[in-house]
Amino acid sequence: MSPAASLRVAEVFSSLQGEGLWLGQRHAFVRLAGCNLSCRYCDTPRTRKVSAGKPWSEAEVRGALSRLFAERKHDAVSWTGGEPLLQAAALPPLMRWVRSQGVKNLLETNGTMVEAFKEVEPFCDLASVDVKMPSAVGRETWSSHLEFLRVAPGKCFVKAVLTARTTRAEWRQIIRLMQEAAPDMPLVLQPATARGGEGPAEPDAVVFFLRQAAALLKDVRLIPQWHPVWGLP
Ligand code: SF4
Repeated sequence: MSPAASLRVAEVFSSLQGEGLWLGQRHAFVRLAGCNLSCRYCDTPRTRKVSAGKPWSEAEVRGALSRLFAERKHDAVSWTGGEPLLQAAALPPLMRWVRSQGVKNLLETNGTMVEAFKEVEPFCDLASVDVKMPSAVGRETWSSHLEFLRVAPGKCFVKAVLTARTTRAEWRQIIRLMQEAAPDMPLVLQPATARGGEGPAEPDAVVFFLRQAAALLKDVRLIPQWHPVWGLP
């Protein structure tokens, strides 16, 4: 490992953002290795271990992004994983530099690392907070999510991945969570993309969840993942 290495990076690439509020924008993705959770529906299982990443210095990350920015215009850098906040200490200078290039920062996070988010939040333009249900991760993370969403409610949206295991009780809990944290915050319902035996919620269930949420929250959207449909990474 180089002594100057400061990040464990699994990959850096350019693609269209395939989910969430910035769907369809051209993003540079920095996928950081390591995660503090183990979701049944994980679409990046290979990068859950820190060892899946190689050590990169800040200069190497800037260099890779500079090359992508020189090839075409990018709307944002998506800091993704794994869980990027595991490496929060290295992110502010890089995010500040991204902004200096006229590009925005999107943080894709599981919304459990509150103190780390406080370090990074001033440099985020948007955070996609993947609120976890016990049926997906095997334990409750509601209190961490509530604290997390209260850090910067104006910069966050909640992504809720709906699987065949999602229960009505879990759904009521998500709605309560958002009512307590920030009822104006956008909620994106994302049916799980079928993989590894973990299927998406049935269409009837998705409609039920959508109606329940739309009756109680201000901004509710149904946005499936599009990059698998487009055949993009
Ligand atoms: S938090 Fe994200 S990266 Fe981590 S296991 Fe869950 S889906 Fe995978």
